[in-house]
Amino acid sequence: MNLFNGKTVTVILLSVLLLGVLYCYMYQSYRVVPLEQEVVRPDSSLKYTQPSIVQGRTDVVTVTPWLAPVVWEGTFNPVLLDSIYKSKNISIAATVFAVGKYTMFLKDFLETAEQHFFVGFRVHIYVFTDRPNEVPQVKLAAGRQLTVRSVPSSKRWQEISARRMELIQTLIEEKLRNHADYIFCLDVDSKFHGRWGTESLGGMVAVVHPGYYRDSRSRFPYERRPKSRAYVAHGEGDFYYCGGAFGGVLHEVHLLAKTCRSNFEADAKEGIEAAWQEESHLNRYMWINKPSKVLSPEYLWQDFKSRNPEIHIIRFSGVVKNYAEIRPNA
Ligand code: UDP
Repeated sequence: MNLFNGKTVTVILLSVLLLGVLYCYMYQSYRVVPLEQEVVRPDSSLKYTQPSIVQGRTDVVTVTPWLAPVVWEGTFNPVLLDSIYKSKNISIAATVFAVGKYTMFLKDFLETAEQHFFVGFRVHIYVFTDRPNEVPQVKLAAGRQLTVRSVPSSKRWQEISARRMELIQTLIEEKLRNHADYIFCLDVDSKFHGRWGTESLGGMVAVVHPGYYRDSRSRFPYERRPKSRAYVAHGEGDFYYCGGAFGGVLHEVHLLAKTCRSNFEADAKEGIEAAWQEESHLNRYMWINKPSKVLSPEYLWQDFKSRNPEIHIIRFSGVVKNYAEIRPNA
């Protein structure tokens, strides 16, 4: 009997071919995965001081009870962090509102942002104003942009403050999706004094208010009327967060802005305005949906306050202003 008739040879050849294809496929799968996962960085970015889990700052709390980092000077390595985010080619949007006389704060805000806010990264600042002609010309470094968006004037500062959430929501929906990775929403009557960079990035990022961080929560100015959707009862809440600085990844900030806006509007229909407008709604939101990163009051200090010993650096701070002079209503 001839063992190698035509049919047998064909079967053998087909089997060999199949095994060959299978081998190539498996070899490629094993090779490709680890190569894709390895991030290639310049050697210099891998040379830094040895990290420690037994030495570091002991005068402040650096993690929340839900295990979100609390960012303080001395808890991170800025060079290392920047090198990690550089390889991701991230882009950061920032919103700032300057309605009515608040345009007077834009120059300092924008000029100091150039010096300290995500230096070396792609940054796009959106200025919302009713006075576009008063937006100063500020020289921007490569990769940094500024866009002016017109908004209506208002006779009540409470309304200006409250409408910010709506405008942030719309900006994300109309412009930012697929164009930015992170967004920060900042008060204009403030200046940068020190680095604000990649250490602040996270899913949902809140800044602890400088006025209340040493206080018992019974003293926090949360909205205390149960009929408001911003209500936080006595004996509840984590920290008191600033309405003047918050951020995170786009979809998280979008959800926050959308929720705060709709709660604010639903309250308004029932004739109630929360104690601190959108700041109250933000505080309620951040209590229910915990931020994944908390920034210490270094990230929004107030110029009129003297610096406490745990504040090693002031990165961003609200300027002293005369409310009667600049607000449309006192
Ligand atoms: N704002 C504005 N025009 C006003 C009032 C407020 O543009 O007439 C914006 C501005 O961005 C400001 C923010 O709303 O930084 C918060 O208002 P404000 O600083 O008056 O509140 P505070 O933080 O002093 O309570």
